[in-house]
Amino acid sequence: MKTVACSYDLSALIDAVNPGALYRSAIEEVAESVSAVIEANKAYQRARVFERLLIPDRVIRFRVEWVNDQGGVEVNFGWRIEHTNVLGPYKGGLRFHPSVTEDTLHFLAYEQCFKNALTGQPIGGGKGGSNFDPKGKSDNEVMRFCQAFMRELYRHIGPSVDVPAGDIGVGGREIGFLYGQYMKITKERDGVLTGKPLGLGGLLGRTQATGYGTVAFAQAMLRHSGDSIEGKRVMISGSGNVALYAAELAMEKGAHVVTMSDSGGSISFDKGMTREQLEELIEFKEVQRGRLKDWSGAGANYHPEARPWSLVDADVALPCATQHEVERDDAAAMVDRGVCVVAEGANMPCTHQARSVFHEKGVLFGPGKAANAGGVASSCFEMSQNASHSTWTKEHSLDRLTSVMMDIHEQCVANAPTTNGVVDYGVGADRGGFIKLADAIVAMGV
Ligand code: GLU
Repeated sequence: MKTVACSYDLSALIDAVNPGALYRSAIEEVAESVSAVIEANKAYQRARVFERLLIPDRVIRFRVEWVNDQGGVEVNFGWRIEHTNVLGPYKGGLRFHPSVTEDTLHFLAYEQCFKNALTGQPIGGGKGGSNFDPKGKSDNEVMRFCQAFMRELYRHIGPSVDVPAGDIGVGGREIGFLYGQYMKITKERDGVLTGKPLGLGGLLGRTQATGYGTVAFAQAMLRHSGDSIEGKRVMISGSGNVALYAAELAMEKGAHVVTMSDSGGSISFDKGMTREQLEELIEFKEVQRGRLKDWSGAGANYHPEARPWSLVDADVALPCATQHEVERDDAAAMVDRGVCVVAEGANMPCTHQARSVFHEKGVLFGPGKAANAGGVASSCFEMSQNASHSTWTKEHSLDRLTSVMMDIHEQCVANAPTTNGVVDYGVGADRGGFIKLADAIVAMGV
């Protein structure tokens, strides 16, 4: 790891916070990007901003106990990592997935701080979740789990303290159950969660925001290099709401969506997915909660166990599934297939080695911190809507989303080095977010 000006061993400090590999890779990535910024700024060095920023304000871990449909007692872990509130209330999603560990959440919470800073909205960073697996559970089981989770979480959150939202495994259904329980326990209806169903104070356009924002960011990168997304072939991974709405906006802008995937495999479309197929898929995935292997979308080819990256030719790739789903060989396969623009809809889907391949090959790379920030930015709109006791129109919410994404793009460009005419958005995003956080840390004193 490149050294960041500090008085002791950064590597040991990272291990002391959390010895996991994901958290370490997130910190190392940022350390590499911002070391020059710190070296040039005495105030950052004196205030020890890098070390202070890598240690979370607090880590909350709790037991979640609930009863399954057979009457058996189930036990899971629950976490909330409140990383920093220097720019606003802790803000970030809850992830329910069997792979969730404290390491996953440390890495996501750290990334979230930079992403939230880039949005220009007054939000700090946090993340939470559980190793609970919603897959195969009945609605009643999910409800009982969410209620049990909130039975502990409610005492740690508040509209100006910590405002959780959804992430993998947590959508409108789960947020509705969590908020319902919060309202019963506290008698507050203060909008403490975002991504709420509309009747509970949700924001029109929030469901689409992350996917739409990712496409808007890809468009901005293309526009900046004198090109456009129209007519481009776009590979997408995932089939959750980020992937589905990225597909929707890409198609609206005249692109051809040639792949989608889930954890069982991928589907490809030789000529691009049609509007009817997308509508069917949204219903199949979001309402029926089906698996792609069982989807009968006419004209789609199913590839069991396969990731999308080597299946078809494409110009643009939008990894929208999960962390580290694009490894070095996947990146090389994408480039062989013609990909010259990558925008991350998921949080850190590309490994450090994959990013190096993109860098070597001159691929325009939009990191998740910037490219998927539309979701959390819209969550902040939802907070404003709730705090002002008003209802935003969908048009207003999507207009604001577009301007936030354009602004993030500008911040990245302003802070990024350019190599052979290719803007290094990864470094630009890290530096842009870091400077906002570091200035606030310096301003608040010790
Ligand atoms: N989970 C989303 C993210 O990774 C959204 C967080 C939020 O809306 O607070 O940014």
